[in-house]
Amino acid sequence: MLLTAEALHGVYESLPVATCVIDRSLVFLAASQRYAALLRTPLESIIGRTMIGLNPQDHIDNVRRDFRTLDQHGMVPDHEIRLWDGAYSVSVSAVGAARPAFALSVTLANVTQHVSLQRVLLSTIGELAQAQSEVTQLAHSDALTGLGNRRSLDLALAKAMPTDTPAPPGFALLMIDVDCFKAYNDANGHLAGDDCLRRIAGVLQASLESPADSAARFGGEEFVVLLPQRSVEAAARLAESIRQAILALAIDHPASPHGCVSASIGLAHRSEPWHGDLAELTRMLLHTADTALYAAKTAGRNRVCIGH
Ligand code: GH3
Ligand code: MG
Ligand code: MG
Repeated sequence: MLLTAEALHGVYESLPVATCVIDRSLVFLAASQRYAALLRTPLESIIGRTMIGLNPQDHIDNVRRDFRTLDQHGMVPDHEIRLWDGAYSVSVSAVGAARPAFALSVTLANVTQHVSLQRVLLSTIGELAQAQSEVTQLAHSDALTGLGNRRSLDLALAKAMPTDTPAPPGFALLMIDVDCFKAYNDANGHLAGDDCLRRIAGVLQASLESPADSAARFGGEEFVVLLPQRSVEAAARLAESIRQAILALAIDHPASPHGCVSASIGLAHRSEPWHGDLAELTRMLLHTADTALYAAKTAGRNRVCIGH
């Protein structure tokens, strides 16, 4: 059975969405009760009337623009508008097959909840990204001194290692160990010891000469400074100036043979490229620096030794 025009109107009016049909002279040919409710106007006074006076000017402009877009491109992308009770997504299509179309079918879907959910999601994503970068920062820094930690050292080493291409003048690693620090803690307490480590960390940070240089706390009272792109002579000069700067802090340490806090430094240097495993090269460099540090300790502390 075919529906009569009157029955079709009835079906249209009762559609459970806010929808309407508007012709080229901006007259409403049909509308649903939900659309009338959205306009806060009785349905009977919408059909057959022009949009002008019934709709805000920007909606009228939108419909004119949609007719033009439809004529040029055959379709109108969905867009969003704000109405008195929230945000709506507007879908527009041509009525009938004839072109240019004689009328537009316009359907509005309330997306207020989507929009506010989207806003909440966006701000949550922003907060998550911020938290993630703080966690990453924390995971790579030493809580006591604020320098990098062992994890950051591994990353910095991997980044700075001379690998497949020769990288003159080479790459240096300094292993720095505070002298007689157990005695310093015993005499002054652990908190004073912590403060001393922070001040030494400050010296190391201030000694870095290029953005590629980095300092990390290796553990306990031991630190590592990485100096990519350094000759052995330049690295030894910097190590010596670090040793002097630590001494110049003039932190009282009567139990030390030097009367104040000092440090011993072992230096490892490599100028040849490395083709093997990075972890293996790291182990070798740390071992060389550690052996040089041991030599500095046995030679009387408060000195720099170069490893071979
Ligand atoms: P050496 O000159 O041979 O290096 O002697 P040392 O006393 O410095 O070396 P030792 O390894 O015997 O002692 C290191 C001390 O460093 C012992 C430990 O209490 C102290 N230490 C390690 N980590 C911390 C820390 O985070 N804070 C404080 N205050 N002390 C620490
Ligand atoms: Mg030590
Ligand atoms: Mg020590």
